[in-house]
Amino acid sequence: MNNSAENLSINQDCIFCKIVSGIIKSNIIYETEFSLVFQDNAPQAPIHYLIIPKQHVRDLVDCTDKQLLIDLISIPAILAARIGNEISFKLVTNNGYAAGQRVFHLHFHFMSGKQF
Ligand code: 5GP
Ligand code: ZN
Repeated sequence: MNNSAENLSINQDCIFCKIVSGIIKSNIIYETEFSLVFQDNAPQAPIHYLIIPKQHVRDLVDCTDKQLLIDLISIPAILAARIGNEISFKLVTNNGYAAGQRVFHLHFHFMSGKQF
């Protein structure tokens, strides 16, 4: 997979762009044409996935592509259905440093499997 990355907007210095292109390995859970889901490598819950656009977008405020937003925000329900048993989950995006964003490539944290 990921060979279409050459057609995407890639930031050479971005960790998540490197995950999209396969330069950095990750445990991929799910993908669409526009989006990728992989396991967070420092999980804060038994299930902690990151849902990201394959193209480089800095944060939610910078994401003006409505088709991409629909794609991204449709994924949690798909993940929940796959996990099953009508699970509860938390969906979080940190927009900006003061909000806790440390990787400046848009991502939604999908977390489940514990009592928050
Ligand atoms: P933020 O603080 O920007 O909202 O979240 C960044 C998330 O990315 C953190 O939960 C962190 O554990 C995760 N992360 C950072 N670097 C990597 C990496 O190289 N691989 C994976 N799988 N997750 C990463
Ligand atoms: Zn990026």
